Amino acid sequence: MLDLIIIGGGPAGISAGVYAARKRLKSIVIAEEVGGQSTVSEGIENWIGTEKIAGSDLAKSLRTHLNAYKGEVVELLEGDRVDTLEKVDGGFAVFTREGKTVTARAVLIASGANRRKLDIPGADLFEHKGLTYCASCDGPLFADQDVAVVGGGNAGLETAAQLLAYCKTVTLIHRHDSFKGDAITAEKVLAHPNLIPLLDTEPIEVMGEKFVSGLMVRNMKTGETNSLPVTGVFVEVGVIPSTEFAKGVVELDAVGRVVTNPRDQKTSVEGIWAAGDATDELYHQNNIAAGDAVKALEDIYQWLMVKG
Ligand SMILES: Cc1cc2nc3c(=O)[nH]c(=O)nc-3n(C[C@H](O)[C@H](O)[C@H](O)COP(=O)(O)OP(=O)(O)OC[C@H]3O[C@@H](n4cnc5c(N)ncnc54)[C@H](O)[C@@H]3O)c2cc1C
Repeated sequence: MLDLIIIGGGPAGISAGVYAARKRLKSIVIAEEVGGQSTVSEGIENWIGTEKIAGSDLAKSLRTHLNAYKGEVVELLEGDRVDTLEKVDGGFAVFTREGKTVTARAVLIASGANRRKLDIPGADLFEHKGLTYCASCDGPLFADQDVAVVGGGNAGLETAAQLLAYCKTVTLIHRHDSFKGDAITAEKVLAHPNLIPLLDTEPIEVMGEKFVSGLMVRNMKTGETNSLPVTGVFVEVGVIPSTEFAKGVVELDAVGRVVTNPRDQKTSVEGIWAAGDATDELYHQNNIAAGDAVKALEDIYQWLMVKG
């Protein structure tokens, strides 16, 4: 039986793997794909210590860092996926899609999340060509341009707030008749002179040739359609945590994120920790995922030492 199974190979999982190796914990990192969500990003400009790095290069550097310890105490199982997590005598077992069974005394869930995609014509075609799921990554590329934000919850409002700092106009589109986010943020964003609110409205098509040049929307009450001349579409319609295997094992919140104690990343089950976008952590960023995983590893190490 290993000391630790780390599920996920994004910034959280790889940080955990490096810390586990340095603490000489016999561990395995199981990752469907090393790098995590921002691998697709053309340029990450807030990974601390690196002015700008392509997502694919960040993935490479995470793999290289973990590989520096590979074989010694930590193993990397890449290209496989955890399907089931179970409690067993003395610890936990995971069963993978490729038929592997691994057991360990402790588990760290770092399986992240996927953005909920916009399911309308043109959305797939123009992804990374004007349509984006990450304002903090891509927002500055749209300085002085007219953009739209789809989603009227907190994420949509916060995205609009960020974009208002440098975009010419921000059209905020929401399906319902009032914005869902917290009142203070909504009030501040809606008071901005460059913010155009569009309630009771849904996007129906992303338009353009090579890049986005417009967004077709429909008023859900009148049925009237309208073409917005925007060059950027920022989608904030929620995230889907990758936590199916944890259902019925640890406590999940209403949207399936692992409920954790932010002091030490413990879950509702002794012996299982969670970090990064798979958790109910309020903010989702690479540095936060890595930091939370480090916090978890400190706690896991203490716990394993005390248990002996
Ligand atoms: C397009 C885009 C750009 C972004 N750009 C930035 C940015 O510039 N700066 C920033 O700070 N943040 C950015 N983010 C947010 C950032 O990527 C996330 O906050 C961060 O990746 C979370 O890290 P994580 O390790 O928790 O999870 P993830 O990055 O989601 O990684 C999850 C890992 O778990 C693996 N996995 C999932 N399920 C299983 C399973 N069942 N079994 C085994 N492995 C599994 C995945 O393959 C992956 O390795 C961006 C997000 C997106 C979508």
